[in-house]
Amino acid sequence: MTAKIINGKEIASTVRKNIKEQVDRLKESGLTPGLAVILVGTDPASQVYVGSKEKACIEVGFHSEVYRLPEETTQEELLALIQKLNTDEKIHGILVQLPLPKHLDEKVVINAISPRKDVDGFHPLNAGALFVGEKGLVPCTPKGCIHLIKETGFDLKGKKAVVVGRSNIVGKPVAMLLLNENATVTICHSRTQNLKEELLQADVVVAAVGKPNFITGDMIKEGSVVIDVGINRLENGKLVGDVDFDSAKEKAGWITPVPGGVGPMTIAMLLQNTLEAAQNIMEN
Ligand code: NDP
Repeated sequence: MTAKIINGKEIASTVRKNIKEQVDRLKESGLTPGLAVILVGTDPASQVYVGSKEKACIEVGFHSEVYRLPEETTQEELLALIQKLNTDEKIHGILVQLPLPKHLDEKVVINAISPRKDVDGFHPLNAGALFVGEKGLVPCTPKGCIHLIKETGFDLKGKKAVVVGRSNIVGKPVAMLLLNENATVTICHSRTQNLKEELLQADVVVAAVGKPNFITGDMIKEGSVVIDVGINRLENGKLVGDVDFDSAKEKAGWITPVPGGVGPMTIAMLLQNTLEAAQNIMEN
């Protein structure tokens, strides 16, 4: 079997188009969703991500503010900016680009963001809401993974899903979302002893490991849906996922490429979360 490719770029572009249409309508009734992105320091990858987020916001018609702060910004200065944005009526979403420089405490910073404006979904209140099945802002990459699975028409109910990776940013929230879709979920990590056996039973695989080409075709069940979250740069400069695409596509029914799979969905879901946050703030 050769897998069908799940085209994240195309799906994300449709999501963005829908958001733009909704924003056009909201603007007529006087609401412009606003996103503030805070970048501390000069990490090159973070600069690229922040630039893409800014561009995406402008494209869909959001109000966009980007704060590029120097590396030596103190915790107090950063918290003061977050407090100001928490009460700023033009701003409905606040995102602090991670990782932060080492002298800043990520947990304290994330906890300072108003949960209603926490469009990354990392605040413990939003993480807890996801855990207990209540409404909240859901982390962007996991939300994008579920969107991609749904686009294939695959029904998750009662199916076995294996998530490889248990980070708070990807692995754990994506496992919770799969559970909320009534999948039977297994979470694997670096101490898992029988990874291949687990994977061979999986109707859905979500790989979020951070190791290039780690999951190979011989570990994939025939016809399964494979979502590759990994972004790894090889020494030759090539970008690859956590799944060995060439061998896995011969077994899977559906597979995401890297690049062009989960990556574009992350920003699309950030826009979606900002729109939702704006609507929630207006309604309550
Ligand atoms: P983390 O490093 O936080 O987590 C990696 C996870 O993989 C850990 O839970 C770790 O287990 C597990 N792991 C490591 N080695 C093994 C192994 N041999 N067998 C099984 N599990 C293992 O990474 P993130 O979750 O933040 O990111 C994962 C990947 O996704 C990265 O490549 C990252 O770049 C990418 N990413 C992509 C995004 C996108 O927009 N497409 C967004 C976010 C991340 P343990 O907990 O036991 O250490």
